[in-house]
Amino acid sequence: MSANSVIKVGLLGAGTVGSEVARLIESDQSDLAARSGAAIEVVTIGVRDKGKDRPGVSRDLLTEDLDSVVTHPDVEIVIEVMGGIEPARSLIVKALNGKKSVVTANKALLAKHGAEIFAAAKANGVDLYYEAAVAGAIPIVRPLRESIVGDRVKRVMGIVNGTTNYILTKMDEENASYDSVLKEAQRLGYAESDPTADVEGHDAAAKIAILASLAFHTSVGIDDVFASGISHLTSRDIEIARAIDHVIKLLAIAEVTNKGAVSVRVHPTLIPRSHPLAAVRNAFNAVFVEAKSAGELMFYGRGAGGAPTASAVLGDLVAISRHISFGGLGGRESDYADLPIASIEEVATRYLIRLDVADRPGVLATVAQTFAKHAVSIQTVRQSGRGEDAELVIMTHSALDKDLASTVSELQSLDMVKRVESVLRVEGVDPSDSSSNSARK
Ligand code: NAP
Repeated sequence: MSANSVIKVGLLGAGTVGSEVARLIESDQSDLAARSGAAIEVVTIGVRDKGKDRPGVSRDLLTEDLDSVVTHPDVEIVIEVMGGIEPARSLIVKALNGKKSVVTANKALLAKHGAEIFAAAKANGVDLYYEAAVAGAIPIVRPLRESIVGDRVKRVMGIVNGTTNYILTKMDEENASYDSVLKEAQRLGYAESDPTADVEGHDAAAKIAILASLAFHTSVGIDDVFASGISHLTSRDIEIARAIDHVIKLLAIAEVTNKGAVSVRVHPTLIPRSHPLAAVRNAFNAVFVEAKSAGELMFYGRGAGGAPTASAVLGDLVAISRHISFGGLGGRESDYADLPIASIEEVATRYLIRLDVADRPGVLATVAQTFAKHAVSIQTVRQSGRGEDAELVIMTHSALDKDLASTVSELQSLDMVKRVESVLRVEGVDPSDSSSNSARK
């Protein structure tokens, strides 16, 4: 048992997540004390505007002097739920250097400055926990860092952004256009008024960078992630996916290529409707992990919201409090494997390409020759006429991104190809294609 019967906590931020954390620490104090080995008490909360109304949060605890939270002599654990890069980065580093353990929900910060922050925690012999930074309430950081750390992870594939999953679900189930669903999502509070970080895949990129670092013991930052969002998707893309019994999801994927490099990417992806991730609807998140001995694991739940995110923060808080009470430290990140990062050009997947072509003899043969010339093998072609034009929907076997890119570039130069309407990646089992997993070890 710790010499301290009370563990004092400083909060940075009392917005959606922080206010909920403060309320739960207050309302659940006896359970938290029994589980932690000491009572947990919030003694100071840093905010931008002390005057704001925050139901259930004591105004007396609020301060606009954030530095005073991380230098408070009695605070042993700092919970950073303010978001953004600065001043969050400097404050966390200052707290760690002051021998205080830190809980953070800040994916953007960890994906950019994770190495510096992990090093500061290690150098000071304190804990740094961040379960809430990826997929809200879903336990995925700790499983990768601790539960399956003895296994060899081959691949992590997740739906880690609720806003885009909500939009794609509505587009699929209600035949709605991207613009109309985005407006509805904004009205319901599922999407920000500036939705760029979500719809362009930046939020998912930060999360998969964190998961890739843990899964492959390699430092992966946001700049290592290829990200492409959903804003260009049309109702026709969704319709075509449905016609071949697939669904489009914004997937964040981290895997080891057959050349031993780590590939990390976020993009709209067709997956078979029978795939476990296809059943993840609306704003829910899920992460699918493939490991050598464990096989396939799936983690599912709420990826955002005040209460679900606060649940993950409180789990970290109790874990650290136990260490303070009974001794010990949590698992550490390791980057011993130090694998190279693969560029997107070297990644192999299947593709679905939709072309608007002239409806005349010889077109199909020329298009097929163009694919063959760039070493992209075609699995199926569907053609439908529409007056003078025809739509060609081509599914390829697994091909390198760079080969697909040169194919598309040449297709665009053919006068019989009026438009390359869309190019989408396809994941999931291709029973006829033994090479479809060629990007994986
Ligand atoms: P939020 O509602 O915007 O709250 C942010 C809080 O931090 C506010 O209390 C704000 O003060 C304070 N703050 C921000 N910048 C500040 C500054 N420069 N100086 C002083 N105070 C500052 O954000 P949130 O939704 O709770 O998210 C917090 C963190 O959790 C972010 O890193 C986010 O990515 C992460 N997260 C959120 C969710 C979610 O569902 N919301 C889910 C997973 C992870 P004022 O109140 O005075 O403005």
